[in-house]
Amino acid sequence: MNPNNNQNSPQRGNPARNSRPGIKRSSTTGTGRNVSRGAAIRAQKRTVADANRIANQYLDASSKTEKPRRANVIDDSPRLKIIGLGGMDGGGSKNMMVIEYANDAIVIDCGNDLGVDLPGINYGISDTTYLDTIKNKLRGFVITHGHLDHIGGLPHILPKYNVPVYGSRFTIGRVEEIFENFGMPMPDGFELKTVVMNETTHERLKAGEFFIELVRVTHSIPGSTAVVIDTPVGRVVDTGDFRFDPNPLDHEKTDMDRFNELAREGVLALLSESTTTERPGRTPSESSIEQSFKDIMQQAPGRIFIGLFSTNMNRVQMIVNAAVHHGKKVAMDGRSMISTLEMAVRNGYVKVPKGTFVPIASVASLKDDQVVVVSTGCQGEPNSALVRMSMGEHKHVQFKEQDTVIFSATAIPYTGNDALIRVMVDDLLRKGVHVYRHETHEVDNIGPLHVSGHASQDEYREMITMMKPKFFVPIYGDYTAKKYHIDLAIEAGIPRVNTLNAENGDVISLNRDKMELAGQVPHGTILVDQTGAIVSSVVVKDRVLLAEEGLVSVVLTIDKKTGSLLTSPDIISRGFIYMKDSEELMNAFRDELRRAVSQRFKRVELDRFKAELKDYVTHFLYEQTQRSPIVIPVVNVVGGRPEKQGTVIASNGNGQAASAPKTPEEIALEQQRRFAQMRQRLLNQDARVD
Ligand SMILES: [Zn+2]
Repeated sequence: MNPNNNQNSPQRGNPARNSRPGIKRSSTTGTGRNVSRGAAIRAQKRTVADANRIANQYLDASSKTEKPRRANVIDDSPRLKIIGLGGMDGGGSKNMMVIEYANDAIVIDCGNDLGVDLPGINYGISDTTYLDTIKNKLRGFVITHGHLDHIGGLPHILPKYNVPVYGSRFTIGRVEEIFENFGMPMPDGFELKTVVMNETTHERLKAGEFFIELVRVTHSIPGSTAVVIDTPVGRVVDTGDFRFDPNPLDHEKTDMDRFNELAREGVLALLSESTTTERPGRTPSESSIEQSFKDIMQQAPGRIFIGLFSTNMNRVQMIVNAAVHHGKKVAMDGRSMISTLEMAVRNGYVKVPKGTFVPIASVASLKDDQVVVVSTGCQGEPNSALVRMSMGEHKHVQFKEQDTVIFSATAIPYTGNDALIRVMVDDLLRKGVHVYRHETHEVDNIGPLHVSGHASQDEYREMITMMKPKFFVPIYGDYTAKKYHIDLAIEAGIPRVNTLNAENGDVISLNRDKMELAGQVPHGTILVDQTGAIVSSVVVKDRVLLAEEGLVSVVLTIDKKTGSLLTSPDIISRGFIYMKDSEELMNAFRDELRRAVSQRFKRVELDRFKAELKDYVTHFLYEQTQRSPIVIPVVNVVGGRPEKQGTVIASNGNGQAASAPKTPEEIALEQQRRFAQMRQRLLNQDARVD
């Protein structure tokens, strides 16, 4: 149970609580409703509960209520376990499957989740508490392809286990690249160990009791593969992200022959990705887009800019083809896109005639009708090249009238990116730029500008029919997408009892005859900020509360002897109300604080006084404003002997005791001076400090 999670314990209707002694208000001040202390506290609890609900979408394993099931170090059970530590919810994000048998385990994929919308959070990764418990069994990570939702967790997770990463040449290149690009400090002794596997020759490698093989599939990044794991119980196939493009541009067709062979030998369980199982029919061929690029290049009056996902190398190839066809030059912007292209060219996935590419810096010196710029920013991301160009913040390029911008992508679902894209399109059209989007390609009288890298229903069904698995488990998708996938499997002849819609952490237990759920292991989301540091969910909850309700701090300086205030109460507010516009409220608030000090300060312990003060301020502010900001009371007690809780510490400012002993009066004077300085510093920070 999470101690911070108090939404299940509302203390309503507790008369003892409501009538306990404390700071009492003499009357209402007239600006707000008269609300009972209980109502104010309940309102605050609701606010906290709301913040919890927002932050609790992403909890780590220790914050969840399920009891962690410890794995036995020696497990003689003949059962195969398949566990999704990520990827079994959301849009198939932070994908991560554990395959475990007796004393061996491997992990397939290790992604991150870029769709986490919490303040200050960059992305989420899977909680690997469970992997810690089977650390000795881990033989390696096998990666299906180089998209971040399949590799983005590796720089955080892999160093803890220090086992090799298996993948195709291109995928391993991407893995090496993100370790470099993330630039995170690695623990002593960690060395990235990679094993490049040839997906064309059906190379098989032994990892513990398992044999691993990669099989080529078509997707939207080169080097995409399915992973075949032969276990003592039977064969497991993880499809990775795939589609069946009969005419892919790079001639990297899904290896149907090998899939058919594997199926003939028998497949125990098919784990098939579920990204777009609600889309009918078949996904059109990627090559259907090339003509659209050629057509736009034919008509465009000036320069052409094309935004796409940075790893979509097939798309780059088509743009190069179309540009060469029209005698144009291609410049590229976006660091990740350029490094991926270099790797794709090196490995023969993209072919660029000499002299086609020019540096982005040289665009200004070319004639407008010669320029094609390929860049990131198809999602309207604030820092992307396209957005910076449209804001006039790009070093080399600014948009002007008669430029053409093509969005060769659609908004990633579940991210809210569609709104960002819309703002950007508004901005471009205002500038007189011609805009082409896939969504409006028919009204704009042009061919398609984007096709998905994922299968549609007919292809998902075909994969199942081809593999003829005994058991079917949809993966990499939310419950709904997986449910549609199961319906397709049943249509394809798989008995319903041989399918499972499992969630993250569910243990799928298999032998040759039976598949069932066998409890849960710890699972959850670890949140990572812009620097790559892990952020506690407690911190995130506070941020949500701050964002929703703001913060009020009251600073009271009280004479220990007389119990009276030495200065007028200081009130500091952030994100709550603009205090200069609320003078009446603030004056009333100060009067209440004075009353609170005179009523209670001398009668109770300092800690108790602070707690009462916090309740009291919460109550007052809720009554006056119907809002519940975070309240931080600061009570400085000056005079008398040093207080443990107060700020009265005799020191020379370096944390060391001053050499000459001081009288209590001298100490009190020094404290007053220091406090006045601190207050001045605070006041100088912002005009809103009252
Ligand atoms: Zn993918």
